[in-house]
Amino acid sequence: MERSFKKEVEALRLGAGATFRGEGILAVTKALLQSGVSYVGGYQGAPVSHLLDVLIEAEDIIGELGVHLETCTNEAAAAAMLGASINYPLRGVVTWKSIVGTNVASDALSNLASPGVMGGALIIVGEDYGEGASVIQERTHAFAMKSSIWLLDPRPDLPAIVHLVEKAFELSEASHAPVMMELRIRACHVTGAFTAKDNVAPAHSRLKPIAGPPRFSYERLAHPPATFAQERLKVEERLPAAQAFIRTQRLNEFFAGDLADIGVIVQGGLYNSMLRALERVGLADIFGASRVPLYVLNVVYPLVSEELTQFCTGKRAVLVVEEGHPDYIEQQINVLLRRHDLQTRILGKGCLPATGEYTAEALLSGLAAFLEQAGPEGLALAPIVDTVGRVTVARRAAAAALGDLPPRPPNFCTGCPERPVFSALKLMQREIGPTHISADIGCHSFATFAPFSMGNSILGYGMSLASAAGVAPNLARRPIAVMGDGGFWHNGVITGVASNLFNGGDGVLLIMQNGYTSATGQQFMPSSTTNRRGTAPGMSIEATLKAMGVRWLRTVRSYSVSVMLATLKDAMRSAERGLKVIIADGECQLARQRRLRVEERQKLERGERLIKTRYGVDDEICTGDHSCIRLSGCPSLTLKPNPDPLRSDPVASVIESCVGCGLCGEVAHAAVLCPSFYRAELIRNPNGWDRVLHRLRRGIIKRIAGTATAA
Ligand code: SF4
Ligand code: SF4
Repeated sequence: MERSFKKEVEALRLGAGATFRGEGILAVTKALLQSGVSYVGGYQGAPVSHLLDVLIEAEDIIGELGVHLETCTNEAAAAAMLGASINYPLRGVVTWKSIVGTNVASDALSNLASPGVMGGALIIVGEDYGEGASVIQERTHAFAMKSSIWLLDPRPDLPAIVHLVEKAFELSEASHAPVMMELRIRACHVTGAFTAKDNVAPAHSRLKPIAGPPRFSYERLAHPPATFAQERLKVEERLPAAQAFIRTQRLNEFFAGDLADIGVIVQGGLYNSMLRALERVGLADIFGASRVPLYVLNVVYPLVSEELTQFCTGKRAVLVVEEGHPDYIEQQINVLLRRHDLQTRILGKGCLPATGEYTAEALLSGLAAFLEQAGPEGLALAPIVDTVGRVTVARRAAAAALGDLPPRPPNFCTGCPERPVFSALKLMQREIGPTHISADIGCHSFATFAPFSMGNSILGYGMSLASAAGVAPNLARRPIAVMGDGGFWHNGVITGVASNLFNGGDGVLLIMQNGYTSATGQQFMPSSTTNRRGTAPGMSIEATLKAMGVRWLRTVRSYSVSVMLATLKDAMRSAERGLKVIIADGECQLARQRRLRVEERQKLERGERLIKTRYGVDDEICTGDHSCIRLSGCPSLTLKPNPDPLRSDPVASVIESCVGCGLCGEVAHAAVLCPSFYRAELIRNPNGWDRVLHRLRRGIIKRIAGTATAA
């Protein structure tokens, strides 16, 4: 696991009246325990990976309450878990990264939402949208609307988040529908405090099991003809029940302001940024007092028409702050107001950008445009326009002063075992020509950036081999699908391997076996050497592939560039048709270094001998052509001025962060580059033999140096 929450999880034991301090994601976990959940599950992914990580670290605490924890193999499995709430009075929660995880889970979600739920069912999605996002920019909102799942978007404030998590279960039970909560990156990491309540042991759990299954009822199955009646229930009963609950429990918030002829309707998750924009132009303070009335949608679906009409009545114009495309909320508001014959002007997209994150800058410009168009009574616009203009000028000046900053794309970690595989792939293509490469999701997707710039498509997590199926028959050369071990278990084994074998396909599958789902923070998976309990899951990719009937299968150590190069050439040139799988085996270097750091410190404390390998470049031999950098891209491999006054080209240099993975030497050997690289061993706590050897070497070097000087 990327980060340890050992200290923080102790706060999950806090009882009523104690003050809980911490990050938003940790507060959500505490709120779940205060809500009496019976089961939790999920699949990791930013920005909610930590939710699952915290739950794993808190397994003792949640175990005492009888709460079951499932680390699912994908999001579909997590969504299907909520099926327990369909027929039983069990509260359950699952989590994943959206939009991609919601795509994977959508089949189970439809089948959950149609019969509806008895016990509260909550789905916490990490809304990975905006400048820091790593997925396709789409909105979870569409899924909520199509399946009649209520969507919460809490104001980033710990008491508000905790309150909404608790209310989410009640909303789900009151309306018999599942509820989603979108947690934006900022809501996950906002820090603050709230007054804790006691944790609640679930009414039913593995400590207090339910005696037997429910009475058989066909109406509770998502299966025709029951589905026809369920569609009616969703619209005619569950939706009004949800709207009534939202209204009576005041899940949305109103903040009054003296500029009563205008207003802002804002998604809960954007409240803090909106308040900041108002504060910049003197229309609010940072404590929440705003001159512009605000209607904060902590529930973004469904909208409550009574609240909306109440807010808009008597206003000449309202700004709708809704991030992303399409403008579902703005469209619905326009329709609802027309139905109530309210003529309030709705402004939103147009003042604000149609796409992209609503940063402080975007909101500030949008607010100024809105105020200019709305023209509120009693407000002098000139100072506001002036402030926005000054901010814009200052930003432009700052950008000009900084100049064109070099782009800094994400890259493999120093010593990553996946980098050498792409070095080999690069060398292979140099020799036998370029081929179609189906990239996939995971750390290996960093190869799409320089210096590798590899990958002709990315179609989803674990989808690379499946996406190569349409390419392979139409290309002269075999395509290569790259997949991580995480992607393999997520769905690549079925959508890719089984499908390829079933269809008698051809092609090459390169599986990066690094032992963890590394890109999401090093969680365990079926082929990890241990699981979260420290026992071996006993599942192997190699054994699975053999059992499925893969005949051409090689496992190669990731760092052995020459062997990998030969194996790749073999796979590409083989006359034998059929799927060829190469497993590139090498532990995630980040995880390895974290593990080694502890072991090494303990060794040093015990006074034991410790060897650390380092690589270096001999300045005198380096020709300065930098092929090594182009072929490896390691961040520890850089340039320095040439110490030879007669040569101007900078020489390659290995810096202190080198972890001694050996790729430099391997690449130099495989690419027949140059003999500049040397390997050195740093020995701490040397033994007697090390000291003798050192004296001997020093003596020989002195003698040679002396001879050379004399000559
Ligand atoms: S986290 Fe591990 S697998 Fe991912 S880039 Fe870093 S070393 Fe490589
Ligand atoms: S040996 Fe080379 S490739 Fe490996 S970490 Fe050191 S500089 Fe980077």
